[in-house]
Amino acid sequence: MIFLDAAATTPVRREVIEAMFPFLTNQFGNPSSHHELGEIAAAALTRAREQCATALGAHADELTFTSGGTEADNLAVKGLALARRAGDPRLNRVLISAVEHPAVAESADYLRRVHGFEVELVPVDGDGLVDPDVFAAMLAGPSGSGTASSDGADGDVAGGDVAGGNVAGSDVAVASIMYANNEVGTVQDLTALSAAAAGAGVPLHSDAVQAAGWLPLDVRALGVTALSLSGHKIGAPKGVGLLYVKGGSLYEPLIHGGGQERGNRSGTENVAFAVALATALVTAEAVRPSAVERVTELRENFIRRILADIPAAQLTGHRTRRLPNVASFCFPGTSGESVLLELERRNIVCSSGSACAAGSDEPSAVLSAMGIERTVAQTALRFSFGPDVTAEALETAATELAAAVARMLRLG
Ligand code: PLP
Repeated sequence: MIFLDAAATTPVRREVIEAMFPFLTNQFGNPSSHHELGEIAAAALTRAREQCATALGAHADELTFTSGGTEADNLAVKGLALARRAGDPRLNRVLISAVEHPAVAESADYLRRVHGFEVELVPVDGDGLVDPDVFAAMLAGPSGSGTASSDGADGDVAGGDVAGGNVAGSDVAVASIMYANNEVGTVQDLTALSAAAAGAGVPLHSDAVQAAGWLPLDVRALGVTALSLSGHKIGAPKGVGLLYVKGGSLYEPLIHGGGQERGNRSGTENVAFAVALATALVTAEAVRPSAVERVTELRENFIRRILADIPAAQLTGHRTRRLPNVASFCFPGTSGESVLLELERRNIVCSSGSACAAGSDEPSAVLSAMGIERTVAQTALRFSFGPDVTAEALETAATELAAAVARMLRLG
């Protein structure tokens, strides 16, 4: 089987299993316990947090381990919005891009439904890109009353200092724009977007779940206030994630209890999975430069070949500002789901849109936001590669894809 669905999930790396194994067996202590077993677990948790902090250029006490990318996104969006509005009731707007993962989009919708926030979608162009100037104008407010600008912003005024409120009169409590899109791979100009948010004194959260392992994750260089990661996209198990929130930024916890994770996320810590995530992140960062170079070239060859061999093929997402490991297309005249099944018959595994949206007949909200017509959007397929993908596998996949699409077009 040729697995081209790494954006959905990845296998757990051997070194990750080895690193976490002791904490599932002999070293099974609770980090809160005041005896040696507990202290060993607490030390492992501290080390895992420090390793993640180093990988992100963050301080260890700015990181919270979560149950995955979904929880990290929920905690960032809801936690920042609720805390900031509690400090200043004027902060009643939430901005998210029109192409967010449901973990962000549904969190914002919850804030609207249950807490009365106004939620606005920052539009994207046909490639899935947010224009930083459009974002800056929206941060300034519907009336354009603020002075936010995407240039000339001082990164150190970065939003998120809840106590300080917004510097430019913006009424936005939090903004969330993903680093790289999970369906089409488009990579946003996150530093420009962060500068715009900082200019308005608004904390910017970014979902970096798909970026990990492929794009630089230094949070200070990116200028974000908050950033989410998920373990299972980079060789850790499903069910572990991480949220960075810049020091000094208050956010409301979603899970209350014994005060673990500095009160940000109660519940006995999953030491083994924290160790797994840290090991996966360190490994992914170590291999990133070579993986990016190799896989980008393979992706380019794959895209070129598909566009040359399949006349119906349309690339979705930005031609160059895209994740090294994602190639996504529409094949008008087919159905994404039937080509996917035909490919599976030929031992090629990919995804029709995102895994989370799969199984629904609704066209992808991401493709719709990019202006892709409904009938075309229903023909979308995403091929996403792990760092170990080979040229031979992609050659085979390209040949089988051309045959599968031709068959589907013949069958009508
Ligand atoms: N955000 C993005 C962009 C994703 O692609 C995913 C998973 O597909 C998530 C968030 C959710 O992460 P998790 O599966 O760890 O909850």
